[in-house]
Amino acid sequence: MTNENNKKVMIIIAHPDDGEFGAGGTLAKWAREGFEIYYTLCTSGDKGTSDPKITASELTATRETEQQNAANVIGAKGVAFLRHTDGELNNNESLRQDISREIRRIKPDIVICQDPTNRFGDNHINHPDHRAAGDAALDCIYPSARDYHAFPQLINEGFMPHNVLEVYLTGPGGSTPTVIDISSTIEVKINALLEHRSQVGADNPERVEMLISRVKERANNLGKEFGVEYAEIFRYIALGR
Ligand SMILES: [Zn+2]
Repeated sequence: MTNENNKKVMIIIAHPDDGEFGAGGTLAKWAREGFEIYYTLCTSGDKGTSDPKITASELTATRETEQQNAANVIGAKGVAFLRHTDGELNNNESLRQDISREIRRIKPDIVICQDPTNRFGDNHINHPDHRAAGDAALDCIYPSARDYHAFPQLINEGFMPHNVLEVYLTGPGGSTPTVIDISSTIEVKINALLEHRSQVGADNPERVEMLISRVKERANNLGKEFGVEYAEIFRYIALGR
């Protein structure tokens, strides 16, 4: 489990709001315990509207502001936007170079990312961008960010190789999930989620109430299984030094 000395955390995700949904309570808890939290967004969610009048660049600006506000509520130190295209995310060389650059720049001990093996559940299909972001993040943790010769361009830019020590994967959690008690930060998670105003129907009190009860119910159902009030669950990989 998390080594107390591993204080720098990077969350790598496909879209604005993925971080708060999957790990907002954990990030807020760790921030309050003195961990440094950094976000890396693969896309800026520029397809996240059904309004034909809103352009992709307008939506990018809105959602980046919302993500920055949410990260502020969480207590994060920084947010980086890689600006790959929403809905078309590919685990290609370009994405891996961009993520590897961020890992080498921030040098996190712990990375949280999306579980790329999460294809579908009983009542949902996982977004392909989530799988691509998860695959790319894992491929960068090992080997691309770690290996000197992986991206000569990054060495030219001054970004030396970096070893990540621990990985937490958001999603269903697998057969032996790692459980984080978020009872002390469930309200922070919700407040951070509500900063994504364009996505949560911020002007519609009924929609907001429904979201709050859905998030609480899910965290409570997970928590009950493990004897706490509210929880988030992860698959955990200890890579060591
Ligand atoms: Zn998403």
